Amino acid sequence: HAKHEGRGAIRLFTSAMDQQLRDRRALEHDLRLAVERGELYLEYQPQHHRDGTLMGYEALVRWRHPVRGVIPPGEFIPVAEQSGAIAQIDDWVLMEACREAASWDRPLRVAVNVSAAQFRRENLDAQVRRALRDSGLPAGRLELEITEGVLIENVPRAKRTMQSLKSLGILIALDDFGTGYSSLSYLEAFPLDRIKLDRSFVAALGQSERSLAIVRAVIGLAHGLGVPVLAEGIETEAQMALLVQEGCDEMQGYLLGRPRRLEAEKVERAVRRAAS
Ligand code: C2E
Ligand code: MG
Ligand code: MG
Ligand code: MG
Repeated sequence: HAKHEGRGAIRLFTSAMDQQLRDRRALEHDLRLAVERGELYLEYQPQHHRDGTLMGYEALVRWRHPVRGVIPPGEFIPVAEQSGAIAQIDDWVLMEACREAASWDRPLRVAVNVSAAQFRRENLDAQVRRALRDSGLPAGRLELEITEGVLIENVPRAKRTMQSLKSLGILIALDDFGTGYSSLSYLEAFPLDRIKLDRSFVAALGQSERSLAIVRAVIGLAHGLGVPVLAEGIETEAQMALLVQEGCDEMQGYLLGRPRRLEAEKVERAVRRAAS
């Protein structure tokens, strides 16, 4: 009897795996069409200076799937990276972010996340140059966010890529700092304009003395090298106060503003004004 149950469990298990594989295939297929069908859009999350001034926005991609609804990037970017659809998505995000930022009524900075695949591409600088030219966005208003992983893959090559990007006049931020294969030597070797302290450290702030020590050390190190620090994922006033006290330069998180569509908000405000 137990034997039968066991077989049944295995059958259930393999059919669950089949289902997962089918889901993934379907997602890959849909993803390849997503750009053409106009299903991707960008939300923007504000980045503030410690004195409260709005410095710019980070562009965060979302996929409005016709059946599944809105899918967050954490669920489809890894699929896109494995299926090869990432290049088309990256191109679209870069162009769209530059185009939208160029239309803002204030000359704020826009930060765009760069996938590992995009950073590895031979023509990233040409792609950036084209996006700037076609959108009319001044280079100084574009920041690319890269992660530690892409830097250590091939250090000499990463250096060349960064130098050619920097020569265009754009800014480069190191995203999720402290979570990767953190080697402090990157900070010295690469021309970084900003270090983004990962939100896991911010989340732990106020709960442990140790996290405060880490935050303090990262800020001290970055400042010693002349690089400003932006803290990610600030959700509470207490975290904010600690970061200000520790000399953190810039802030981003739900406390200051959730990612949102900027155009939609403008329209909403206009409607509300008209109604009152
Ligand atoms: P990231 O670049 O580190 O972006 C920050 C993530 O933290 C965003 O999640 C944002 O919504 C979330 N976040 C911001 N403030 C808070 C907070 O106070 N609390 C919490 N719990 N979360 C907060 P999102 O939009 O789901 O993006 C996840 C990741 O997906 C990004 O991490 C980035 O690595 C990647 N990603 C997003 N957009 C793009 C894109 O256009 N291209 C590529 N290649 N990757 C992207
Ligand atoms: Mg980012
Ligand atoms: Mg980040
Ligand atoms: Mg992150």
